[in-house]
Amino acid sequence: MSRIAIAAILAILALPLPAAAEEIGECRFDRDTLTFAGTPVEQATCLLRKIKPLAVREPQPLPKAIKQLMERGGAPSAASKQAALDSFPEPYRAYAVEHAKAPVSQTEAGVPLAYFVIHDTSTPFYKDAPFPKDVDNDRLVNSFQPYISDEIAPEPVAHIFLNRQGQIWPGHEFAEGWRATKLESRVVGPAARGRFVHIETVQPRRFMPGATSRGQTEAPKPGFTKSQYRMLASLYVYVSARAGKWLIPAQHNTVDAGIPDAHDDPQNFEMKRFAKELEKLVKAR
Ligand SMILES: [Zn+2]
Repeated sequence: MSRIAIAAILAILALPLPAAAEEIGECRFDRDTLTFAGTPVEQATCLLRKIKPLAVREPQPLPKAIKQLMERGGAPSAASKQAALDSFPEPYRAYAVEHAKAPVSQTEAGVPLAYFVIHDTSTPFYKDAPFPKDVDNDRLVNSFQPYISDEIAPEPVAHIFLNRQGQIWPGHEFAEGWRATKLESRVVGPAARGRFVHIETVQPRRFMPGATSRGQTEAPKPGFTKSQYRMLASLYVYVSARAGKWLIPAQHNTVDAGIPDAHDDPQNFEMKRFAKELEKLVKAR
């Protein structure tokens, strides 16, 4: 081997090795591609695992309606988007119509929106007191005031707030990149902003018997109302239509699973009920 060839090989060996892609959390989020590991079906299967009290995660099969969308790809039809818009209550409907053709968020590097993250608000917090008798129609439970005011945070913590009666308050337009998980705010940072949209679904909490920490709280059963599942499905169709592709549905806890102090929301979320409402919109003609 010539001296030049040896020099060339040595020069190549001296180059820093490309860093192995760093994967974050149980669903293995890649910091460079801003994507969880696997096909859309595999990602949704990991991200839609059942979240039990104390943030215990259990595998569950993907509902057929969601699996089909993840397998086929593509985007919601015009009829599905219209059915979603028609289902929204005022005043949100007018707001959604106004923004219906606007682009959605992307990251600062131009990576498009990909994930639709479902949360529960864990608010109001009743400590050791019982939940109100008629929790779904309770005025305090359904009030958007804590999220609008700076009581919880200086700015709205999510894109959407959805109360138990199906009313919707937009904290941020879907065009605005926003973060609401530890993965985005603590681990990846601003580079991830715009890759996720966040939906806060109103659900009160109270301490589990004998508990003293906010990590040990319980939600009402059932966790969410029919109106909430219906509007969640409509929001998912609407924002996916604007994104031009079916977003991958996810949950706050599973996005952050493996990161210390991950929140335990959404609790008592019934994936089948969400999928049933979604199926109706997908079939809209
Ligand atoms: Zn959350």
